[in-house]
Amino acid sequence: MEIYLDNCATTKVCPEAAEAAMKAMVEDYGNPSSLHRMGLRAERILTGTRKAAAALLGCDYGCIYLTGGATDSNNIAIQGAVRARARMGKTIVTTTVEHPSVGETVSMLEKSGYTVKRVAPRANGQFDPEDFLEAVDADTVLLTFMMVNNELGTILPYEKVVPALKKRFPDLLIHIDGVQGFTKLPFHPERLGVDLFSFSGHKLYAPKGIGGLYIRKGLRILPVEYGGGQEKAIRPGTEAVPAIAGLGAALTMIKAHQSEIMRNYRERQNQVRSLVKEIPGVVINSPENGCPHIINLSVPGIPSEVMLHALEEKSVYVSSGSACSKGALSGVLKAFHLPDERIRSALRVSFSRETTGEEIEAFAQALKEVTDRLGAVVNG
Ligand code: PMP
Repeated sequence: MEIYLDNCATTKVCPEAAEAAMKAMVEDYGNPSSLHRMGLRAERILTGTRKAAAALLGCDYGCIYLTGGATDSNNIAIQGAVRARARMGKTIVTTTVEHPSVGETVSMLEKSGYTVKRVAPRANGQFDPEDFLEAVDADTVLLTFMMVNNELGTILPYEKVVPALKKRFPDLLIHIDGVQGFTKLPFHPERLGVDLFSFSGHKLYAPKGIGGLYIRKGLRILPVEYGGGQEKAIRPGTEAVPAIAGLGAALTMIKAHQSEIMRNYRERQNQVRSLVKEIPGVVINSPENGCPHIINLSVPGIPSEVMLHALEEKSVYVSSGSACSKGALSGVLKAFHLPDERIRSALRVSFSRETTGEEIEAFAQALKEVTDRLGAVVNG
């Protein structure tokens, strides 16, 4: 039995999405830009997927742009927004815990002359809304930050920050990287005042290489790529219709089963928390009030990669997060003020809608065996 607990990295495509993608490949294979009936059939698939995403966000389907994934959406949103506001200011506010698709894009803009302010979590690992309110000023053109952190599951305070800042600075553009929170936490961009919202298909049971960007009605951002005018010229290029069909089917499946899926994440989270309490040496890094599909833990003394491969030998697949990139400690976990010893041994466990109680028991058993064995080596 293979136990896949790396669903934050990517999820298995659900049967509905695989079937829809297959149909788009072998039956509805026209180009959505073609004027004949085959083109129209493909165009309808795009509309269906926009409607499925819009139904989850409570917005008009015309606000949903289909992209090549969240890295694509984040780049289009951030670069497009600052270019649209080029004359209005030179400051960007973000956080110290962003995914590289936001962090690196903002750093590139910093090198090109923008002032970047990075809000950090407080010592308790939580963000204080006041720190965002303090960082944004009249020169700020864009606030970009994540909804849920992909290493720990920490929920950022967008519910407080966004309405407060929109009231104070109506022209400020606010972008949220929603990859780890979309469909898992209630989110209504219009009601909150969010201008731009990115999401990714492959974290939500859809194929890889497909994602979406919500752009508030009436907001014009400048494109970062030029081409044939698809997606209202914001994301030109012939659309990935099979993957888009898959995304629509996956989002429709999630909408129909959202409460069961969430219940499963919560149950698995509680189960991991109670089982690892019984394993001496294991500490939990994720906050108790985090998003329930993620739990990050450490066995100080056993490096992440050693543990990851020892678990892999037992067919249990987890992630070291981005805990060790080329030997360096995770900048994100450090930004959350985790001690080095915990960062060196951090493991991210993330659940799917299908993760079972038996799988979690087997994971905990494997973790215990490896901890006993490797802990003994390290200590002895
Ligand atoms: N943002 C966050 C928070 C993520 O977790 C990820 C995926 N690891 C991305 C952006 C990038 O998404 P994609 O793989 O669709 O480019």
